[in-house]
Amino acid sequence: MELVCLDLEGVLVPEIWIEFAERTGIDELRATTRDIPDYDVLMRQRLALLDQHGLKIDDIQRVIADMAPLEGAIEFVEWLREHFQLIILSDTFYEFSHPLMRQLSWPTLFCHRLVVEADGRVSDYKLRQKDPKRASVKAFHSLNYHIIAAGDSYNDTTMLEEADVGILFHAPQNVIDEFPQYAAVQEYDELKQLIIAASERDIPS
Ligand SMILES: [Mg+2]
Repeated sequence: MELVCLDLEGVLVPEIWIEFAERTGIDELRATTRDIPDYDVLMRQRLALLDQHGLKIDDIQRVIADMAPLEGAIEFVEWLREHFQLIILSDTFYEFSHPLMRQLSWPTLFCHRLVVEADGRVSDYKLRQKDPKRASVKAFHSLNYHIIAAGDSYNDTTMLEEADVGILFHAPQNVIDEFPQYAAVQEYDELKQLIIAASERDIPS
C-alpha cells in the first residue's frame, strides 16, 4: 500500500500569495515567512491588506482562477494518480487553492481554511493543526501506508523526514544544501523516476 504526498505551492502550482500580489499589484502581499517569520503576524497583515483594498473572496478567487498550474503539472498528476494514491499536503487555504485544484481535477487536499463572512469578507483563518504535514504522514503510517513525499521548502522538511522516502523538488539551493539527505530534482520527469525507484512495486516509466 503506497501513498504519495506532495506539497502544492512551488511543486504543482506557483506560490499563490506571490502570484496574487503580482496580479493585483499589491506589493506588500509579496511578504512571506522569510520576511515576517511569525506566521500569525504575516497572516494578519495579509488579511488587513485584503480589507484595505476591498478584496472579497470572489475577487480573490477570480484573480486566482486566471493562474495556471506549473507547466507539466497537470500531466504529472494524471500519471501519478494512475499508479499511486495521491494526497496533497499544503499550508494553503481551501478557498485560495480552489480554482487551481479544479485545473488539477480535484486531487485530495489537506490544508487550512479561511473564515469568510456572509458578505464575502475574509475575516480570519483557521489552521487545521500544528505541524500538519508531519502529523498527516504519521497518521497514514498508522494506516500501514508506505509514504513517498516530495516538497520544495522548509515547511515540507518534517513531512520528508517522517516519510519512508523524501524528495526535494524545485527546492532553492539553500534548502538543498541544508538537507543533503534528500535527493533533489528540478524536472517532473526526474521526480517521476525517483518516485518509481522509491516504489515497492514495478511501475512502468
Ligand atoms: Mg511549497
